[in-house]
Amino acid sequence: MISPWFDKSIYPVQVAAWGGYCATGEKQSPINIERSKVIVNRSLGRFTHGLFKSIPRSMEILNSGHALQVNLEGGCKINDSTILPSVYRAVQYHFHWASRGSPGGSEHTVNDKRYFAEMHIVHLNDEAGDDYLTTKNGLAVLGFFIEATSTVNHTGFDKILSYGRNVRFEGETFDITETFPIDDLLPNSLRDYYRYSGSLTTPDCNEVVVWTVFRKPIKISYLQKVEWQSLFYDGEEGEEDLTLIGNNFRPCQSLYGRAVTKPSRLWNK
Ligand SMILES: [Zn+2]
Repeated sequence: MISPWFDKSIYPVQVAAWGGYCATGEKQSPINIERSKVIVNRSLGRFTHGLFKSIPRSMEILNSGHALQVNLEGGCKINDSTILPSVYRAVQYHFHWASRGSPGGSEHTVNDKRYFAEMHIVHLNDEAGDDYLTTKNGLAVLGFFIEATSTVNHTGFDKILSYGRNVRFEGETFDITETFPIDDLLPNSLRDYYRYSGSLTTPDCNEVVVWTVFRKPIKISYLQKVEWQSLFYDGEEGEEDLTLIGNNFRPCQSLYGRAVTKPSRLWNK
């Protein structure tokens, strides 16, 4: 069901070779967000922490060979037409990050700033069923930037890292028995976000994604960043030429006239 994120052959990022929509689409992701060009949309509502507090029935962490991913069963549901155009359920989240020595590894950039990492919470449109890859707004992805600016560990990311130590090599999976809510990972403020229509950032780059990119980054510690960058390999244990996963982001794509919008700050007090 979420196969686009499992195909290892797409990374390392050989984006020039990606065909189909990836090559010809005009609603592709990620994008650079130019803050001065973002348009206020007063009808956009507010995301709250309460939306992310439910605890999934089960959680599985896995190394796909190109990213670290957590699959959810019974992930939280968002049913609020002021913030998303349909009813959505979280099915997985995964991470894009910078290799050691690289300036940044987020997929989206803001005024050309690339953050250390970006978390994508992937939501399926309840009404689209199995046709989500061909249905308008079939997916809603919530993107959160991650940066290392703290000497204090982020407790949510301590959990991700400690479970992640069980999936250092491609294809490894681990059941997280003490499941925890997505909210454990989110930044304090969800108030400001950017909204646009785009695509998957991996083949087939289907243009069915309503994107939400939150302005406030998640703050992890320097030590957590260093461990993250030295943990996950792009091949199976014992293989030769193993490389640490990193810089697993697609370059920014042209807007082709698309608008990027944001909620009004007044409305969102
Ligand atoms: Zn992603």
